[in-house]
Amino acid sequence: MLDISDLTIEKAQKLIASKQIKALELTDAYFKRAVKLNPIINSFITITGDAARDQAKKIDDLIANKQPISPLAGIPIGIKDIFSTKGIKTTAASKVLEDYIPPYDATVVTKLKDANAVILGKTNLDAWAHGASGENSDFGAAKNPYDLERVPGGSSSGSASATAANQVLAATSTDTGGSTRQPASFCNVVGLKPTYGRVSRYGTVAMASSLDTMGHITKTIYDNALMLNTTAGYDPMDATSSTKKSEDYTKDIEKVPKGLKLGLPKEYIDGLDDKIKNVITSAAKKLEKLGVKIVEVSLPYTKYGVATYYIIQPAEVSSNLARYDGIRYGNKRDAFGPEAKRRIILGTFTLSAGYYDAYYLKAMKVRRLIRDDFINAFKEVDALICPVSPTLPFKLGEKASDPLSMYLADIYTVNINLAGVPALTVPAGFVDDPSTSSGQVLPVGMQIIGPDFSEKLLYQIGYAYEQETKWYETKPKL
Ligand code: GLN
Repeated sequence: MLDISDLTIEKAQKLIASKQIKALELTDAYFKRAVKLNPIINSFITITGDAARDQAKKIDDLIANKQPISPLAGIPIGIKDIFSTKGIKTTAASKVLEDYIPPYDATVVTKLKDANAVILGKTNLDAWAHGASGENSDFGAAKNPYDLERVPGGSSSGSASATAANQVLAATSTDTGGSTRQPASFCNVVGLKPTYGRVSRYGTVAMASSLDTMGHITKTIYDNALMLNTTAGYDPMDATSSTKKSEDYTKDIEKVPKGLKLGLPKEYIDGLDDKIKNVITSAAKKLEKLGVKIVEVSLPYTKYGVATYYIIQPAEVSSNLARYDGIRYGNKRDAFGPEAKRRIILGTFTLSAGYYDAYYLKAMKVRRLIRDDFINAFKEVDALICPVSPTLPFKLGEKASDPLSMYLADIYTVNINLAGVPALTVPAGFVDDPSTSSGQVLPVGMQIIGPDFSEKLLYQIGYAYEQETKWYETKPKL
């Protein structure tokens, strides 16, 4: 049986292209692991074994016929169950859509299929992508592969846990307020939140349209860049997608630009948990050793981020979820869970006459100031480094009954969505927590944030750091 334990997209692709393994063999190995671990981790809502095998056979035929293949050909991936997949159930982890089978693919899915990636299944999430733990899923919470009593983060809970547990080699994700970066941080994997407009949103169940970005999760930086090479680009079906040309994000990934200056925003470090602070400061030192200059910067409006986000985001949710009226498709509105109802009510309130100016309009003005913070910082430095999460992966149930403490898990991620800039989570080390049942240490991620469309630079910085540290080699004991 094929040993898949050390595979990355980069390695698997070489094996397939050089005919050392067949795509079908690879798919079968991942399918077996996905099925075996799903009762334990609950990363998948749907596993699509037969379709995946058919797809893999097609790729083996292409290779047998000496046809050119893309770097993602034959690579088993997961699709967050919020991206529409033609003929495959797309639930957004909500009972409202539990039987919904879309008649079309999201653009990201079309592009991945065109690149001959093998879709192994649809990954779990917080219903409608509302949450930071995965516990809002109507189909049961996913678990953190590093400690099964802890959350994998959210909302892309299943995409992060499935990648970390090696049930897939990569998975798509979304990021409206941290949903790619925070689960990546909790599961020791790489997660990209691209610049707003870099990747098409078409065909993804809309959460908050001015904040939604389509990301992905992988084990390594190089793999992540490979995925963006496929998903990035203009899409006439998404009016907010950018016409700016995308790049080859793997090209020169090993080159860190000379004279690079990175900022450590003091608002993201002051008051931070000591263990996490140590991880970030030692990562900064590592980068300094690589010749990068690190300076302290200030983003003074940081503290208004969570309040601003939790006005704008529910406002957009209340308008986007209005289409699930139980008349056209989907189950009746009483199938909405408590978190979606909370956001619909909050959003409807802040948008209503008499309150609009006091809440929504004011929040939009603060949003501008938050974006200006980033623009000003990028006049001084090339990129920023900071933590992703104020805490280690928390216990299942720890925050689930307290929405406010769950919202505060987002303090270091939401401002980046309000500003629209790109950010990358890179594994940055492990911290021991005496209360872990598995006796295993818990992962901590670092965030690298850059100006609009600086994804390539983020990868170069992340790659240099990753080559020095190789945290991705520390796997969960499953
Ligand atoms: N945790 C944030 C929220 O609950 C972010 C979610 C997301 O990015 N989809 O809104």
